[in-house]
Amino acid sequence: MSVRKLTKGQQAVLEVLVHSHRPLSAQDIYLELRGTEQEVGLATVYRSLEALHGGGRVQIIDVRDNQAHYLIGKASHSQHHLICLNCKRVVPLDHCPVGDLEKHLSQDHEFQIEYHVLDFYGTCGDCRQVVGV
Ligand SMILES: [Zn+2]
Ligand SMILES: [Zn+2]
Repeated sequence: MSVRKLTKGQQAVLEVLVHSHRPLSAQDIYLELRGTEQEVGLATVYRSLEALHGGGRVQIIDVRDNQAHYLIGKASHSQHHLICLNCKRVVPLDHCPVGDLEKHLSQDHEFQIEYHVLDFYGTCGDCRQVVGV
């Protein structure tokens, strides 16, 4: 079995995502790379993101911004997030808060649940301080 090598574009995109703590749009990544030695076109960024997502290296996060945002890491059933609508910071939860609920629903409805999606949207502590809420 051969390990598929990443293209230059994919490496550059991955590099940006590895160093980012918040999800980035293709545009963000493009701007981040612009003017560096790793500069690539926007179309390449999109293609690279698609390939990286398909390869399970990058997950798509919906930050309610009409644009797909990407975060390093594999999307998994048990991964839930707190997402700040202001600064787009994403805090992964390390446990599933609805495991029991899933079990009950499965039993009550004789429904085999494969996975669920659950994210919480709001304002993070830092942003609340700035806004003074
Ligand atoms: Zn915030
Ligand atoms: Zn869960």
